[in-house]
Amino acid sequence: MTRAHEIKNRIIPYQMLYEAISGTHSLVENILPDHGIPSLRMGLKHIKSVINDFILKEREGLPVIGHHFAFPTEFLYAFDCVPVCIEATSYLLSALLPDGSEPYYDLITHWGHPFHTCSSQKGTMGMTLDDLFQFDAIITPTAPCDNTYASYPFFRFHKKIPVITPDLPFLKEDKSYPYLGEQIKLGLEELGRVIGQEPDYDKLRRALEIENKIFSMQMEIFELKKTLPCPVENMFNAMAAAASIYLSGRPEKITFYEEMLSIAKQRYTRKEHHAGEEKIRSIWPYMIIFFDLALCEWLDRELGMSILFDIFNYNFAEPIDTTSDLETMLNGMAIKTMEAPMVKQSAEFYYSFIDECVHLAKEFSADCYVFTSHLGCKQFGSVPQILREALRDEVGIPMLLIDLDVGDKRMTSEKIIKDKIKLFAQTLL
Ligand code: SF4
Repeated sequence: MTRAHEIKNRIIPYQMLYEAISGTHSLVENILPDHGIPSLRMGLKHIKSVINDFILKEREGLPVIGHHFAFPTEFLYAFDCVPVCIEATSYLLSALLPDGSEPYYDLITHWGHPFHTCSSQKGTMGMTLDDLFQFDAIITPTAPCDNTYASYPFFRFHKKIPVITPDLPFLKEDKSYPYLGEQIKLGLEELGRVIGQEPDYDKLRRALEIENKIFSMQMEIFELKKTLPCPVENMFNAMAAAASIYLSGRPEKITFYEEMLSIAKQRYTRKEHHAGEEKIRSIWPYMIIFFDLALCEWLDRELGMSILFDIFNYNFAEPIDTTSDLETMLNGMAIKTMEAPMVKQSAEFYYSFIDECVHLAKEFSADCYVFTSHLGCKQFGSVPQILREALRDEVGIPMLLIDLDVGDKRMTSEKIIKDKIKLFAQTLL
């Protein structure tokens, strides 16, 4: 059900995002050579078109639904709505605006929210405090971290926005998936009541089928990264993370992956690296640095350092069975939710994370790890030293630790980060 809207724009940050993406895209198109950073060119083109579609839909009066990235965007295509990922919006703006999302971190901090919580939420919280976002409802599973638990009540209690919270179990056992599947269904039904729509499971099924089609391409690209040199540029990691939210469940994502796979295959055949010579192969087991995406290209070009993948690019859930009954589909959705980046790592003890890191280092012939220890991620604060020891003992490779806030350049500056990586690289060459 749509409702006529006389009120002002309820997604002003999407307008800001659209303008920032348009400006960057036009620079990329007009300044870079034809073959320069294809993932950036294609990613921005598709994201721009989807954001524009959201802006038009908001004007038609469709409900604006906020969601945590741990509740995959395509699940919201059970409704006619404008989805807004709370975390991705903070970080995409942090990457594209000259001042990043910092003014909004400050706004919410001055309101009283602790400064040391996750900037992925703080940005959108500040924007909502300022009424730049006006959500009709928000949905988040009870995961993946304390920051989520501590931050979302702001929307419910201060802004009086209905916040729906499907319960996500910690245990990864057979009984967990039907339980979470039921929770997702109840969550969608409750959301439907709030916005005055019935969940349309056929529409949802079609969105999930698009994601299923992309899975095999994602796996092919992942496999190609095992080759030396890596045939995929560092920037792909950033664009694939953005695509996993903004293009989720949409045909634009299929096109993006078809284009990237074709380029990766060509480079693989020619044994070609995006930016000349690959000297160092690194794995970033947590996040890349969102406030400075140019760092990806700098590492490729200046240091010959490949980022093989970051946390958003090595966690893949199997395709969801959409051909059986609803219960089976919900079960698949539950598995995908529990395998989502950060949920998978944060909802259990770290043995499996450490094992996986060791395994990935061997499989992908990594020369080193770079661990970005994000201020908000308290639950990950104890991991780096254990991981460093495991990588040294089991694989014989070093790990660089960088303390920072991945979305706020004021905590650790671009210069300090580059100096640290440069020094580290010298020890490897
Ligand atoms: S980055 Fe860390 S603190 Fe922020 S949402 Fe993810 S798990 Fe939570």
